[in-house]
Amino acid sequence: MSKKPFITKEQLDKIVEQFPTPFHIYDEKGIRETARALNAAFSWNQGFKEYFAVKATPNPTILKILKEEGCGVDCSSLTELMMSERCGFTGNDIMFSSNDTPAEEFKLARKLGAQINLDDLTHVEFLDEVAGIPETICCRFNPGGYFSLGTDIMDNPGDSKYGMTKDQMIEAYGKLKKLGAKRFGIHSFLASNTVNNEYYPTLAKQLFELAVELKEKTGVTIDFINLSGGVGVPYTPDKEPNNIAIIGEGVHKAFDEVLVPAGMGDVKIYTELGRYMLAPNGALVTKAIHEKHIYKEYIGVDACAVNLMRPAMYGAYHHITVMGKENAPCEYTYDITGSLCENNDKFAIDRKLPKIDKGDLLYIHDTGAHGFAMGYNYNGKLKSAELLFKEDGTTEMIRRGETPEDYFATLEGFNF
Ligand SMILES: *Cc1c(COP(=O)(O)O)cnc(C)c1O
Repeated sequence: MSKKPFITKEQLDKIVEQFPTPFHIYDEKGIRETARALNAAFSWNQGFKEYFAVKATPNPTILKILKEEGCGVDCSSLTELMMSERCGFTGNDIMFSSNDTPAEEFKLARKLGAQINLDDLTHVEFLDEVAGIPETICCRFNPGGYFSLGTDIMDNPGDSKYGMTKDQMIEAYGKLKKLGAKRFGIHSFLASNTVNNEYYPTLAKQLFELAVELKEKTGVTIDFINLSGGVGVPYTPDKEPNNIAIIGEGVHKAFDEVLVPAGMGDVKIYTELGRYMLAPNGALVTKAIHEKHIYKEYIGVDACAVNLMRPAMYGAYHHITVMGKENAPCEYTYDITGSLCENNDKFAIDRKLPKIDKGDLLYIHDTGAHGFAMGYNYNGKLKSAELLFKEDGTTEMIRRGETPEDYFATLEGFNF
């Protein structure tokens, strides 16, 4: 299997004439198709809604496209709430799934009428004090231990900082009910970037059973179950992508087995996907500007870890296509590097690729989520522009690149 860019070399050559590399580019058509497929997969559930995780791709143009496709937003910080408000998301369009939450963020979430997801039992009192308890409220569950699918351990919730134990969930619901809450949600995020159609159905079954138990023990009305993020994408070309229709059917089956017999067939299903929605629908485009031959072969590009941190931070694999050489044999072994004074600033290590010449455009795949967003400014390097490749074939800049003046703008006490 191979990964194919969503844009041709001819199209990209034209774009590069107008917008200098490096830049992230997003595919409007792909984003809309992904959102439509997700909505279709869960259309069996009356109140289904995807709340796109803003942290994955915090750009208003992207958020507006998703809004047009019926999505809400999942926020976890002040600026994410502010951006969502300015994009026209209000009330039930917003899920506020934060942790270690400052008072001012709860205040803004309440002001916007967002659905608040509490990460801890102590936050019941904290929220009551700083902003009051809303009628609809959600609590985040952490079952501890390991999360497995069959014999595969997928992740380690027992070692994660999020959520409450089951006993704490029961206590929180009781307290919230006394404080005036009327409708309750359950949220849980147990494994990240799963490339496995069983993740959501397995998680859903656990949460549905918990919902029945919570209803029995506390007498509350369960309004929604939020399966959160974690449905992933195959970054390597050898894996099959998830099939969202199969995933939706798997959750449907668990719903019919657990919730319907308990008289809870009206519970709404929510998701907070980020990576699944956007990762394959974005790419980092960078130009080869140097080659270096020492103990290994290096290609230096004009992007660096500031533009895409995942390889440096997690050793993450991102597939690379050398534009115009899609069918050339991969006869060379390269490290593809950025210019940071950090030896982990490498987009690929020992990667088999076609011969790369200076001036070649490298298309780094699957950067549409947790790509640009994770950027930082180490070495005084500047964040790139973001472009949208629109359905009509034109390209629009949806965020300009940073300038040195942006970088200096927050400095005080010294006149340049
Ligand atoms: C990061 C995050 C998501 C999105 O996760 P993906 O892996 O991008 O799907 C959803 N919900 C919460 C609370 C998150 O922190």
